[in-house]
Amino acid sequence: MRISVTDRCNFACLFCMPEKDKIAWIPQEEVLSFEEIRRITSVLATLGIEKIRITGGEPLLRRGLETLVRGLASIEGIKSVDMTTNGWHLERKAGPLRQSGLRGVTVSLHSLRADRFAKISGLDALPRVLRGIDRALEVGLGPVKVNSVAIRGYNDDEILDLVEYARDKRISIRFIEFMPLDGLGIWNHDRMVPGREIIEAVSRRYPIVPSGRGHSETSSVWRFEDGRGELGLITPMSEPFCDDCDRLRLTADGKLLSCLFDTEFHDMRHLVRNGTSDEEIAAAIMEAVWRKPDGVQYMPWISDDWAKPRNMNAIGV
Ligand code: SAM
Repeated sequence: MRISVTDRCNFACLFCMPEKDKIAWIPQEEVLSFEEIRRITSVLATLGIEKIRITGGEPLLRRGLETLVRGLASIEGIKSVDMTTNGWHLERKAGPLRQSGLRGVTVSLHSLRADRFAKISGLDALPRVLRGIDRALEVGLGPVKVNSVAIRGYNDDEILDLVEYARDKRISIRFIEFMPLDGLGIWNHDRMVPGREIIEAVSRRYPIVPSGRGHSETSSVWRFEDGRGELGLITPMSEPFCDDCDRLRLTADGKLLSCLFDTEFHDMRHLVRNGTSDEEIAAAIMEAVWRKPDGVQYMPWISDDWAKPRNMNAIGV
């Protein structure tokens, strides 16, 4: 279960929400409170959800996130609470979050060149993000991972540098294929660097061994023969994994989504604010899950001219 705690972000990544000034943020009163998120998660736990990932927008912009982490980690049946972050506030927050029960952290890192990082993310933040990753490792968050979106013509020449960085730190790096959920509409098939191309490039430099994709996992994993670091590929576009994808997403304003590309929302906020019983909330969740789309490969609108329903920051990956 991916829980977005805010749609707001202090970065403006060009493949997500570059035109920050034009975005109509979700009004504060529509954003779920920590108690509401905890209630929905408790019901989800009774239905078998065990793993939570906190995301956004930028989750570390939400004040007092430690309280939410503590609340979620203490729910019976929840085995892990992880977070995906841009890393801006991580140096300061890693310790308190670890103490609150956060397990691991995934940090988005799309370039190791300061000027390019600033161009891609809209903020001159590379040294600070790298310090955040170091701090996460120091305080013992685990796993610490790095997410990169490779975009042809923007950062695809840095794939091996990013891999080398991850190997140096002995952490896992995941390349996510560029998806057509970007704010500028720059997505097209040519800009997307398919996972297989990344594997070819990496295997020309390092001996790698496939570990496969675990059941219902989003990434297929490769290990380096020398045991340093790990490579993951998330290939929703070139090799979709919809058949056994069991991810659910809750937006900051309480909409449940059974697929990143789905256009159907299931409003949980209305339920938790209107005295609905846990049983009725559970039934609404099940209904959303049964209505999960067959898969991205069956969606005729996954094409260059598709009018995307929303930017990524509004969903949370
Ligand atoms: N703000 C946090 C961060 O930067 O990691 C969490 C939210 S962000 C939406 C989560 C992940 O989605 C990031 O790793 C980001 O790179 C990825 N992402 C955003 N837009 C994307 C797109 N159009 N295609 C693929 N991945 C995307």
